[in-house]
Amino acid sequence: MSSPFSAGKLVIANWKMHGSVTQVRAALSVLSQDSACNQSHIMIALPTPYLLLANEWQQQQAGWQIAAQDVSSFAEDGAFTGEVSARMLADVGCRAVLVGHSERRQYFAEGQQVLSKKLKALAQHHLLPIFCVGESFAQREAGLAWQTVEQQLDEVMPLLKELPQVVVAYEPVWAIGTGKVASLADVEEMHTQLQKKLLHSLPACATMRVLYGGSVKADNAEAILALPQVDGVLVGGASLDLGQFKKICQASEKR
Ligand code: PEP
Repeated sequence: MSSPFSAGKLVIANWKMHGSVTQVRAALSVLSQDSACNQSHIMIALPTPYLLLANEWQQQQAGWQIAAQDVSSFAEDGAFTGEVSARMLADVGCRAVLVGHSERRQYFAEGQQVLSKKLKALAQHHLLPIFCVGESFAQREAGLAWQTVEQQLDEVMPLLKELPQVVVAYEPVWAIGTGKVASLADVEEMHTQLQKKLLHSLPACATMRVLYGGSVKADNAEAILALPQVDGVLVGGASLDLGQFKKICQASEKR
């Protein structure tokens, strides 16, 4: 039987809270015309107001896929001012949604309860969650990196068990937006543990991926993507620089 980890490598751009209509239109045009970026294993996580612009490109057969950066924990549409439901994200063509990003955990105090509800809402609408885990610098220094990551996974494992496809992004908090990248040896070790854990906990899951995120750039993407335990990358800052992002997409093609 083939390994659930054997599928191709994903590249996910996280544009965070950046952009304008003009910039997003221009960027999507560039990505759609680039042979390395205009591929189904490339996903763009746009700010919510711009998802519909991406959807327009999709109607014109853009090859990349649309992702959202967040979703409401309320599963059903209703009187929840300011919220965006999983159904709405699916309606505008989203394929995947980031859940548990460290910025949401840190600035919006998102924890087990709300993250579990978000995973449930996504599952109901057949959207793929990109579930983010990662330790702080203090936790790594204290030798608690694996324990932290394992606990974050265990908290939502009952929800992950319901999914036909699981994508986990290992993003050490100290590496996000800082220019500090985890060493290849540390990535290899953490991903090996994550793969083992997922295989053990989710024996029925057909496709699993463990992505790395944290200061992935044009000059380190190739080495990171070359690790057999890395099934893709989640890219923040460097995805806003289209020249760099193209190179990262090219690096994923070689794998
Ligand atoms: C992220 O936002 O998920 C991320 C990894 O950011 P950066 O690439 O800028 O570190």
